[in-house]
Amino acid sequence: MSGDADDVVRFRERLGLPGIIDVHTHFMPERVLRKVWAYFDSAGPLTGMEWPIEYRHDEDERLALLRSFGVLRFTSMLYPHKAGMAAWLNGWAADFARRVPDCLHTATFFPEEGVERYVREAVEAGARVFKSHLQVGAYDANDALLEPVWGLLAEAGVPVVMHCGSGPAPGKYTGPEPVGRLLARHPRLRLIVAHMGMPEYTEFLALAETYPEVRLDTTMAFTDFTEDFTPFPVAERGRLAALGDRILLGTDFPNIPYPYAHQLDALERLELGDDWLRAVCHGNASVLFTVD
Ligand SMILES: [Zn+2]
Repeated sequence: MSGDADDVVRFRERLGLPGIIDVHTHFMPERVLRKVWAYFDSAGPLTGMEWPIEYRHDEDERLALLRSFGVLRFTSMLYPHKAGMAAWLNGWAADFARRVPDCLHTATFFPEEGVERYVREAVEAGARVFKSHLQVGAYDANDALLEPVWGLLAEAGVPVVMHCGSGPAPGKYTGPEPVGRLLARHPRLRLIVAHMGMPEYTEFLALAETYPEVRLDTTMAFTDFTEDFTPFPVAERGRLAALGDRILLGTDFPNIPYPYAHQLDALERLELGDDWLRAVCHGNASVLFTVD
């Protein structure tokens, strides 16, 4: 067992957790993942930050690592950057979920002709969670082509992890305003705001306070890396406590520039208590995804 795994196992054992559920991990076709890694290799020039990927391993090794950490369920967050890709990605993800039963079957979409049909097919095929990336996809969540998709997902109660905050890089359609308009039309949508909505933490917390089906994932938030450039406001910690049943562990494994356990330490040092940590790292997701 690696030193990494020792640290994660110690965290779990101290809390008495049977395992961890991580709602934000990336598995995708190998050649797409290589492109994502190439993007992070060049992210220094784009964002002013070095982004050395910690877990640049082949798929089997990445899966073995997550399991050695005691991660019981995880996702295969994938997302298209243009039209014509999403249905193909969904085919890959459905196959991945079949061969990797501890992965929650993940799907995605893009505002394009046919989107309602392939999203419906994915839901009927058992997709448990969707990913929407407004910055990479550069689309508006309020695009008319997506209107039936939001209705369908809200109706089916299938959560959507959405990269909608403007960090680490803003997009034309990121930020709380367009998401607020979406939720006003689809108040029951199970929206999971990725990265705690960074850097618009305050505004996305307000959306979660307004809409009971809105949740936030912790991905990369509170870590040393993120605190350096978009610190979470200390004054807002009380709101994290109050929303303790709607915050879900996410990590961005494997595309992270630090060891996995650092995300857990970053949550622990918020000092919101062991019950809060147990809910965030296991309980909330086990209810949402009905994991035993
Ligand atoms: Zn991610």
